[in-house]
Amino acid sequence: MNLDILKPPVEKLSDTLFEEKEVNVFMCRLDKVHPILSGNKIYKLHYFLQEVLESENALEKYNRTILTFGGIYSNHLAATAYACKMLDIKCIGVVRGQRHPKSTHTLKQCEADGMHLHFVNKLKYQFRDTMGFQDEMTDMFGKCLIIPEGGYHPMGTKGASLIMEAFNFKKYSHICTATGTATTLAGILTAVPSTIEIISVPVLKNMTDINDRLKYLAPQLLHTNNLQILDNYYFNGYGKRDDNLFAFMNQCWLNYKIPLDFVYTGKMMYAVIESIKKDFFKRGSEILCLHTGGLQGNISLPLNTLLY
Ligand SMILES: *Cc1c(COP(=O)(O)O)cnc(C)c1O
Repeated sequence: MNLDILKPPVEKLSDTLFEEKEVNVFMCRLDKVHPILSGNKIYKLHYFLQEVLESENALEKYNRTILTFGGIYSNHLAATAYACKMLDIKCIGVVRGQRHPKSTHTLKQCEADGMHLHFVNKLKYQFRDTMGFQDEMTDMFGKCLIIPEGGYHPMGTKGASLIMEAFNFKKYSHICTATGTATTLAGILTAVPSTIEIISVPVLKNMTDINDRLKYLAPQLLHTNNLQILDNYYFNGYGKRDDNLFAFMNQCWLNYKIPLDFVYTGKMMYAVIESIKKDFFKRGSEILCLHTGGLQGNISLPLNTLLY
């Protein structure tokens, strides 16, 4: 996949709060690069796609097939299905939970893009990274490249670091991103000098293992003294939300004309704005927020929850 076509615009947000606190806030619109391949996922997939297509003996090893994992609203499955369609790669999505008669917008789109869905119950899904489970999958579906959920792998880190080549990050003092598997975070940390502060906003409850994750994802990373984790903005847990979050997201739409998703970027921006209010950022800070996409997930919300 040619990532050169994915050039995100960077937009400056204006707000009297930012003037009062003397900070500048920008948003890198990865959500705008493509209607389906929007956000961070295509970057994380980049080297896996290259591996399945171009590595030595790729055809014998992987039979031009990818197998990966996700939930019923997964942005990762949606992006994988579309990328595989574009590149004529067979793909299998192992989905956590049961097939629901009504399905979800996400899974319908995956199937429309040619992904074969294989459902496993939540208990079994926990074993997805074990040899036993993966052998069962290759017995069932044949040779394939198995991509961990969310691209959680050093190869995903390497792909995520390409985000930092897509725009000029050098003028910012801070780069903020939502954190799920921490693969995107690892990619950013490996790509920027330690003079830039990296702000991570975990969207899962009690995510205390970020440093262990970074060791696995980016063993070459020598310093993480420029990393700050804002770990109080997960809104009760992954995918959880409340009216306060929706009100905030609608306000961002009215103030900045930026659509946020409720799982990741809504919580990240909430954390950033609250932190600005609390003088977390020094005067003169140039804050870059990454819009990592995920907007397809909003389709699962009841009508009229959001203004956009
Ligand atoms: C997957 C995702 C993230 C989290 O990325 P990780 O690399 O798993 O930390 C952030 N934002 C959006 C919109 C996502 O879909």
